Amino acid sequence: MKIIRAEHLGMCFGVKDAIALAVDVAEREPLTILGDLVHNETVLADLRTKGIRFEQQPAGVGTRTVMVTAHGASERTLNAARQHGLSVLEATCPLVHVAHRALAKLVHGGFHPIIIGKRDHVEVRGMTDDLTEFDVVLSAEDIANLRERPRFGVMAQTTQPIEKARHLVQLIRERFPHSEVRFIDTVCQPTKQRQSAAIELARKCDVVLVIGGAHSNNTHELVKTCSHFCGRVHHVQTVDDLRTEWFHAEDTVGVTAGTSTPDTVIDAIEQKLGVINFSLPVPETSAMYSKVVGME
Ligand code: SF4
Repeated sequence: MKIIRAEHLGMCFGVKDAIALAVDVAEREPLTILGDLVHNETVLADLRTKGIRFEQQPAGVGTRTVMVTAHGASERTLNAARQHGLSVLEATCPLVHVAHRALAKLVHGGFHPIIIGKRDHVEVRGMTDDLTEFDVVLSAEDIANLRERPRFGVMAQTTQPIEKARHLVQLIRERFPHSEVRFIDTVCQPTKQRQSAAIELARKCDVVLVIGGAHSNNTHELVKTCSHFCGRVHHVQTVDDLRTEWFHAEDTVGVTAGTSTPDTVIDAIEQKLGVINFSLPVPETSAMYSKVVGME
């Protein structure tokens, strides 16, 4: 079995920086993180062992300092935390700040905001909680339900595939030919790199493993993307999810991972693949070749 990694995979700088900040602060004072720092259970479990707590709402925070995650938060949430007397530490990724600024620019420019993303995702909530009027779309059906406006300002959740975002923008333009539709590309560079590297990988592999948390949006998007180019794609969270029956000795196996997947999990899965490789029956053609050349 040949095992290859995607050229770009795994944890992005935004998540790494947020984790480093949380660990650093937690060494000096008790810390609560508002929401899930990353959508990866392995990482969260590790942070809990360091004494870091997690709460979904400012009201439940029992420490003096609270940290906002890389996904960012709305002004409304930040103010609510301050009103509870909390000291707020922002670990918002700079590329999420870019998306917030793009949205503000569109709104101030008089465009009706449309966010391409998941309505309940923490990053999208962080963008929309301060708005009175907006739409969140993720499908042609969502676009069919939009009301006509003279000007639409469209942007995307940072972890949406850029091709999908462009396709939905095109659908908005087709549905409202008399409206002005302005699109600001806010999909982050690490997401774009992981998506294009996943396509390259899936094109040349018999099997692709996508490693990432069950609730990680960009991991799910990688699974969908790889499935367009490879018929045997498996989403795994940890080494325990691997199944020997997924593989044959002659397979080329590709490995990719979402932006919240730590290197330790990727390494452990690659090591286990090596073990599985040794346990697989030798393909018949190789066995016959061994007999012909007297290698038995
Ligand atoms: S996925 Fe992109 S926007 Fe989100 S934390 Fe990572 S680099 Fe930042």
